[in-house]
Amino acid sequence: MHSKVALVPCGSYEPERVYQALRQGLDLVGGIGKYIRTDEKVLLKLNLVREADADRAVTTHPAVAEMLARILSEEHYSDVSAGDSGGFGSSIKSMEHLGMREELTKYGCRMAAFDEAVRTAYPQGIHAKEFMLARDVVEADAVISVCKMKTHALEHITGAVKNQYGCVQGKHKAAGHTRYPSAESMARMIVDLNLLVRPRLYIMDGIVAMEGNGPTSGDPVPMNVLLFSTDPVALDSVFARLVYLDPESVPTEGAGAQMGLGTWKEEEIDLVTPDGQLSMGDAVAKYGRPGFRVNRKKGKAEGIMNTITILRFLKPAPRIDADKCRKCGVCVESCPVDGKALRFSKGRDHPPVYNYRKCIRCFCCQEMCPHKAIYVRGRR
Ligand code: SF4
Ligand code: SF4
Repeated sequence: MHSKVALVPCGSYEPERVYQALRQGLDLVGGIGKYIRTDEKVLLKLNLVREADADRAVTTHPAVAEMLARILSEEHYSDVSAGDSGGFGSSIKSMEHLGMREELTKYGCRMAAFDEAVRTAYPQGIHAKEFMLARDVVEADAVISVCKMKTHALEHITGAVKNQYGCVQGKHKAAGHTRYPSAESMARMIVDLNLLVRPRLYIMDGIVAMEGNGPTSGDPVPMNVLLFSTDPVALDSVFARLVYLDPESVPTEGAGAQMGLGTWKEEEIDLVTPDGQLSMGDAVAKYGRPGFRVNRKKGKAEGIMNTITILRFLKPAPRIDADKCRKCGVCVESCPVDGKALRFSKGRDHPPVYNYRKCIRCFCCQEMCPHKAIYVRGRR
């Protein structure tokens, strides 16, 4: 297996600069026409995990989505939409919050609500045989995954592979967390999902990435790159290397390689830039950020020991910073565990309280807290 990843430097979200960088990246991977016919129905699968300002680096930046819509319009793609199914709230509201409606409409791109689920069988799935996909995904001929470069509490990073989890419609994502509770099982399920949805192209917004308490409560950090590939495992491995993270420690990387989605191996990746081919070492030296705050610990292997209750107390766990908590209840609503693993057991005047015996460490609460009040113990 040999995969190509294009890396294009881009130091700002100024729309014209983003437009030029997207054009360069698409040219480097052979042009959009190589992957999608103009008469096909195209879906831009953004990362709109929840409503947030563009400069917080929580979502795919609107300039990237808008300039991609512009390029597709200029290339005569007539049926294009953009959307995601975030973890909480409506993705249409997220796009409106980001001010995308007018620009997307200008380029003939519709906003997709991802509000209807379609039970989709996947008998050839290695780990998951069925998904509740958003109808917008099922009805698209071609998906372009426009992901965001961010850290993630459970999977270390959320990039190209993980972005497809938003293809699972709304509340059905919670069931996935309870059915696949470990980072490794979740990763395998998401790899199956990638193999089912098969995005034709992956584009990563790494102009400003998120480090620290990602994927929604971390800190923006300029990485100044856009990455492009048809192989999401290879693309994520370049992201990982740029932040000095061993790709092998990322669950979606190992699962992706084992299940045939792609490769993370350096010798199997051609890295191209507008200045020509670059070795991984040179790319890391030129564009990498060694101080990027990301969990670099290797995950524990699954096995019988994982089922011993006492080990639950040794695992990283979510915690609430009482000074930051505004008692909004989003975390409680987001918890997928039957009967909830955190509740307002001391009343609504106090932060919710965890029941770590019930908690499956999915970190949905940490991901959805709108006030950066939840962190993962030991990784603050
Ligand atoms: S979501 Fe965050 S701010 Fe809201 S109650 Fe939970 S911890 Fe507090
Ligand atoms: S309390 Fe948080 S980490 Fe624990 S199961 Fe619920 S959402 Fe997941």
